[in-house]
Amino acid sequence: MSPAVAPPRPRVAVFKLASCDGCQLQLLDAEEALLALAERVDIVHFREAGDRSEPGPYDVTLVEGSVSTPEQVEEIREIRGMSRFLVTIGACATAGGIQALRNWQEEGLALHTVYPTPRYVSTLARSTPVSDHVRVDLELPGCPVDRGQLLGALTALLAGTVPRLSTAPVCVECKRRGYPCVLVTKGEPCLGPVTRTGCGALCPAYGRACYGCFGPMPDPNTAELARRFGELGLTGKQVAARFRFIAGWAPEFREAAEATEPQGAGVRP
Ligand code: SF4
Ligand code: SF4
Repeated sequence: MSPAVAPPRPRVAVFKLASCDGCQLQLLDAEEALLALAERVDIVHFREAGDRSEPGPYDVTLVEGSVSTPEQVEEIREIRGMSRFLVTIGACATAGGIQALRNWQEEGLALHTVYPTPRYVSTLARSTPVSDHVRVDLELPGCPVDRGQLLGALTALLAGTVPRLSTAPVCVECKRRGYPCVLVTKGEPCLGPVTRTGCGALCPAYGRACYGCFGPMPDPNTAELARRFGELGLTGKQVAARFRFIAGWAPEFREAAEATEPQGAGVRP
């Protein structure tokens, strides 16, 4: 009788588009949990971790970063074609990221401000989330993505289930953990009431206002929060700047900023 052959392990790939690598580092920093994961799966492409790079198909693909260049449009289409389950990780991949701040500027202004020789740099007019270009099966927000949420999602996917993420606001997490509300007790312009949880209310835990890196919760009451920020003394421009930040290109935050400061200085339609 021939010996039993072990079934192939699920093939996992990690790709990067326009990003700072911080979300991939969350995975690398998981250390023991990552080693345990590596025994259950075959990590066949993960440039941040090593040279191995094998073509698809992949069972689970993680993608960090926004789509910012013409090459990345092609790349994400190829990645989608090779992936059974595609997961975007972090604010860049799910909402365009901090680099989407250029989306409100005069076209080319950021390029000419940042690079000494911009003619060598090819970028799209806008930085956009992966879901604007291909179908995405699961989005894990945050800047960076939450390590526990990422590992939990991977574990669930490998067990054959699609994880369901909480859509509650950060405020709920603050109450659950007993953190004093920074909006009420300190009068700080906290985006927690309209931002989806997943970070464990990290910033309020240190007495700081949330700046919305996990992006908007479903159906957020941004108008009421903007009104409250106004009562705290913020100008319309300052309120808009709170929304136009790391997850600012997410439609709900984009609309909230637009309602406060329509087509502000330098803003493109
Ligand atoms: S979401 Fe934040 S940490 Fe992750 S790649 Fe983008 S900028 Fe870096
Ligand atoms: S509290 Fe807000 S800004 Fe801070 S990590 Fe959580 S979602 Fe991001």
